[in-house]
Amino acid sequence: MNAVVPIHALDAGCSQAPVLRERGQREVFCGLTGIIWLHRKIQDAFFLVVGSRTCAHLIQSAAGVMIFAEPRFATAIIDERDLAGLADCNDELDRVVTRLLQRRPDIRLLFLVGSCPSEVIKLDLSRAAQRLSARFNPGVRVLNYSGSGIETTFTQGEDACLAALVPSLPDSDPAAPPELMVVGALADVVEDQFARLFAQMGVGPVRFFPPRQATALPPVGPNTRFLLAQPFLADTAVALEARGARRLAAPFPLGVEGTTAWLRAAASAFGVNQSRFDQVTTPARERATAALARQRSLLAGRSVFFFPDSQLEIPLGRFLARELGMSLTEVGTPYLHRQHMAEELALLPAGTMLSEGQDVERQLDRCRAAAPDIVVCGLGLANPLEGEGMTTKWAIELVFTPIQGYEQAADLAELFARPLVRRARLSPRTPGLEALSCN
Ligand code: SF4
Repeated sequence: MNAVVPIHALDAGCSQAPVLRERGQREVFCGLTGIIWLHRKIQDAFFLVVGSRTCAHLIQSAAGVMIFAEPRFATAIIDERDLAGLADCNDELDRVVTRLLQRRPDIRLLFLVGSCPSEVIKLDLSRAAQRLSARFNPGVRVLNYSGSGIETTFTQGEDACLAALVPSLPDSDPAAPPELMVVGALADVVEDQFARLFAQMGVGPVRFFPPRQATALPPVGPNTRFLLAQPFLADTAVALEARGARRLAAPFPLGVEGTTAWLRAAASAFGVNQSRFDQVTTPARERATAALARQRSLLAGRSVFFFPDSQLEIPLGRFLARELGMSLTEVGTPYLHRQHMAEELALLPAGTMLSEGQDVERQLDRCRAAAPDIVVCGLGLANPLEGEGMTTKWAIELVFTPIQGYEQAADLAELFARPLVRRARLSPRTPGLEALSCN
């Protein structure tokens, strides 16, 4: 059989490139933010943040106000009495959880989500989860993870959540043929598109983790081959490997090239031949390439600067440089996982300035000196930079929006084109941007 061969960059790209490491003040959201997309994904799970009023405000404002639906996240507020040691936090937590589960019998999986305050007072949520799980078993499973903003960035909330879920996955049959697990929360529409492509290629069975229902956890074991759909799942990957699963090395499914290489990694592992792979992927590839052409005319030659925020920066930089012709002035990432990023780094244009971690004042100075056409950064930096006349893109929007796969490639490009179009309309004499239009 003519098995599909993984693609490689013609040169080593940034595989050996030096990385500027900074350990100063950082401007990032905390891991609680992940609840916003995770509660939509796992539809019978509930996320109970054990935190302060600040945590409650963050979650509420990030999620918007939900009026018609029964919410699937809440905050158990640690108040002054708890902080002063006047109340037993564990008793109070047990009372809150009991009331919640009595009121909401639809909950099958309850996450106790730790925060900065719960960590500061050293509230042991892992013991609380075990105690409550034993009490409410078998109807409800109670797990815990930390969404604290101490030394973490916002996408690590999903990593911590999924890593906490891995021990609950059932064992797969070791004698069963290989199965594919796609790891990382994807919008349902994207998941359905990938499921169709895998089915047409004959790759499978395919499971998605996290699943849409907590009662349908995918099995895992030595016959599991997994593909990371998100680049921020280091702990989850370690937990899956400890269960015997094997990671398929691939770039991430952003843009036509990334999606093709990602699908190809699975096709190759499952013995799909080249002609079958081409037959299945070519129509979607051609559609996506044509859709990208228009965005390329808007973005080619423009420069982009990434502040470290979502951990999507390197795959996004690769997409913008290789498929849209943008130049990368700096690609900052909160953490650089060399193994998981190896295929991405190889595709990144040689000479790209890479930085890991942050010293925000220094990085702002570099950004101002580079004067890029667009800056990708967190909300805390976006407004001041806009005030200085720069064009910005909120990194968090790239995590909330379906951007993976062929059908979303042009939408992803448009997320970068739109701020430039807006800026051109506000400053019609900006050289070279007068003709931009996103309609
Ligand atoms: S977890 Fe920490 S960083 Fe996040 S909202 Fe609560 S206090 Fe703030």
